Amino acid sequence: MADTWSRQFNYGDVKLLMISVVSEELAEDPCWHGNCFLFVMEGDTQMSDPKESTIGTEGLSRRTFLGVGSAGLATVALASLAADAQEKSDTQAADHDHSASNPGPENQPLLVENPNTNLPPPTDHGNMEPVWYSFDLTHKRVQEGGWTNQVTQRELAASKEIAGVRMRLTAGSFRELHWHTANEWAYVLNGSARLSVLNPDGTVFLGDVEKGDLWYFPAGFPHSIQGLGPDGTEFLLVFDQGNFSEDNTFLLSDWVAHTPPSVLSKNLGLPQSALKKLPDRNLYIFPAGLPASLAEDKAAVGGQRVESPYQYTFKMEAMAPTKQTKGGEARVVDSHNFLAAKHIAAALVNIKPGGMRELHWHPNASEWQYYISGNGRMTVFTSEGVRTMDFNANDVGFVPRVAGHYVENTGTTDLVFLEMFAADEYADFSLNNWIRHLPLEMVTAHLNLDADTIRKIPPENFAVIPG
Ligand code: MN
Ligand code: MN
Repeated sequence: MADTWSRQFNYGDVKLLMISVVSEELAEDPCWHGNCFLFVMEGDTQMSDPKESTIGTEGLSRRTFLGVGSAGLATVALASLAADAQEKSDTQAADHDHSASNPGPENQPLLVENPNTNLPPPTDHGNMEPVWYSFDLTHKRVQEGGWTNQVTQRELAASKEIAGVRMRLTAGSFRELHWHTANEWAYVLNGSARLSVLNPDGTVFLGDVEKGDLWYFPAGFPHSIQGLGPDGTEFLLVFDQGNFSEDNTFLLSDWVAHTPPSVLSKNLGLPQSALKKLPDRNLYIFPAGLPASLAEDKAAVGGQRVESPYQYTFKMEAMAPTKQTKGGEARVVDSHNFLAAKHIAAALVNIKPGGMRELHWHPNASEWQYYISGNGRMTVFTSEGVRTMDFNANDVGFVPRVAGHYVENTGTTDLVFLEMFAADEYADFSLNNWIRHLPLEMVTAHLNLDADTIRKIPPENFAVIPG
């Protein structure tokens, strides 16, 4: 049951439930046509004949109607209803009459991916900028040895502080020796890699990373990344400049190709005849043989005498959770526990099905998210409006600085995502924590809740709240 979402509508006294399910089990049903929609009448009402249906909302007449045909479907319906039900009183009139109908064309796969953008929850309002983009909508630069794509301020205009890049390197392949204007933070999504970075004092860091590890390279520090065996690596890069482009970095090959041979000869102390095979174009990503062991490589560059006193890698996924509840866990890495990460802070969040990253906000930076797995829905609250969008693996989420937000797990598997901040430390305010650290009378005056009720609100900043 990989992809499931639902939405409830109220038509007078009749409740309708709209569900999209993609499942191998259901695919065998002869009535099933891929992304179908199921309508369940609640209460005593019988399933109506779809041909007699006059419902106009969202162009339903063009879609497939199914009865409750199997236990599997019924289970899906109940599970989705519990997670997603909107009470009639919550629903504004226009959401359940003909006003929301759409006789025109629509991009159905996109609607299935992001139903809350198409028809927002009635509590959304205003005209906020999009808080969603996906790496799967971007151009992929493919070269021998791997590929890269990016979501920068060009793709997600609101994100002025952070840009993200995804990269794949096959075994042995290099992201060429380079440096750039932004600080670089990275999280390994798959496989393993060999890193090199030079310090201004001439010491050098060589290190290996694997899935769940991260690295941090300060702006201007020259570095390389090489895919290791058996199948190279894939990683997410994050830069603390919204308009950063991975296509505009300082490449070793580029400098060499644009320097006169006589100057290179003088600088390198080599005759021009020795420089005939230098690359005459950008390498950027290119294949190469697998390196020696890390110990052999360290010895080859001079051993302990030149070893970096600074650690540029960190085992994020393997660390103990910073916060843990029945609803999930969060791991926070910033300059307090990873000294090198002076300008980028991050949290790795895991939300169990039904759980929620609680209502909170961050005082010191906007939040750039990368969704690793599962299905989620985030609502962002600003002084200009409230917006809800849906998130799946490989999507990017954005929260403006100090904007309130919460993230729900809307799927049946763990929702795993990264939160990144262009800041030296991670900081957040929890709504619950705030409410419970005020005099009861003050809360009663604002929220009309009596003292006993207020005392039932969790007092801690739990990060993740169980379903
Ligand atoms: Mn770099
Ligand atoms: Mn947040």
